[in-house]
Amino acid sequence: PIYLDYNATCPLDERVLKAMLPYFSEHFGNPASRSHLFGWKAQEAIDIAREQVAELIHANPKEIVFTSGATESNNLALKGLFEHFSPEKNHIITLPTEHKAILDVCLHLEKLGAEITLLQPDSSGMISPEAVEKAIRPNTFLISIMYANNEIGTIQDIAKIGALAKKHNVLFHTDATQAVGKVSVDVREENIDLLSMSGHKLYGPKGIGVLYVNAKSDAKNLVAQMDGGRHQRGFRSGTLNVPLIVGLGKACEIAQFELKKVAKQTENLRNQLEQGILQHVAGTSINGHIEKRLPNVSNISFEGLDGERLLDSFKEIAVSSGSACTSASIEPSHVLKSIGLSDELAQASIRFSVGKYTTQSDIDFTIHYVKEIVESLKL
Ligand code: PLP
Repeated sequence: PIYLDYNATCPLDERVLKAMLPYFSEHFGNPASRSHLFGWKAQEAIDIAREQVAELIHANPKEIVFTSGATESNNLALKGLFEHFSPEKNHIITLPTEHKAILDVCLHLEKLGAEITLLQPDSSGMISPEAVEKAIRPNTFLISIMYANNEIGTIQDIAKIGALAKKHNVLFHTDATQAVGKVSVDVREENIDLLSMSGHKLYGPKGIGVLYVNAKSDAKNLVAQMDGGRHQRGFRSGTLNVPLIVGLGKACEIAQFELKKVAKQTENLRNQLEQGILQHVAGTSINGHIEKRLPNVSNISFEGLDGERLLDSFKEIAVSSGSACTSASIEPSHVLKSIGLSDELAQASIRFSVGKYTTQSDIDFTIHYVKEIVESLKL
């Protein structure tokens, strides 16, 4: 089948694989071994990767904490800060359209005494900075708002939210898992205190991610959730996974270099796909913000169709309904419901996400194929 599910995960870039391979074999050292060449070689690779990641998001290398992925980064940010600030400050502002790796952490913290405000976004998934500002209370310690939504692609007004968080002396965390590598992200300009990202969403390996922690703000007081040998300045203990970190660094370096080109290329293909489907298939509509949106994703509702049957019928294309991470359940997407879709329409919505290996013929085929399948289902 044709792969159109890049927001779920990306294939590994071959250059990333090539960079990683020696660190599985001849360069097997532990970067914490300070007394011999094997350790130094590994440490050198880690230092380079830290720089590559930092450069992509405009951070300082020492502000990069390697984790097992964005899920862990989100957990570390929210739980670690709650542990530092509570009970005096226990209020978090976030959105109902966040990934479960934020929402379920909030549910967990609620049981421990946190107060959570879920702000209602508009029908395009956008939240106004004014609404965020209004929700700030004396006991608010954190605003956590995703950079770009994984299902509908809507990009929030991150710089404005960052500025007002700073103005009110509240920390600002953003889950930028879907944004990093697709659009330019600048933690300094945008006043981001903490940022989560994951290697496999930018053609790097799975099981590795980053939490950026602003060294100049209160973010640095977050309490580690993994105790042990005090690796990574105590933020996250555990022997560093050198090959995966090398791969993530390389993926960031490539992403930085190719960002504009890939964004243009994917946007062009995405637009063709979207226009083709809207034109040729009756009852279709787009979910998410039309302009402020990731360049590679299109979430389309197919009115009047049974969502599960639709997804089952798409044998020749790999797409998803809702987020892959929760697709074990057949619940309609919480994101689409949050922006006002009925259960039925949410279930009859498909996420198409293209990437740098998507070709023109993939798109041409998909438009005709979707048209054919939908017509056959309507018979
Ligand atoms: N946050 C967002 C917005 C995501 O899209 C994802 C992955 O789907 C995650 C977090 C979780 O990433 P990982 O599974 O790599 O930890």
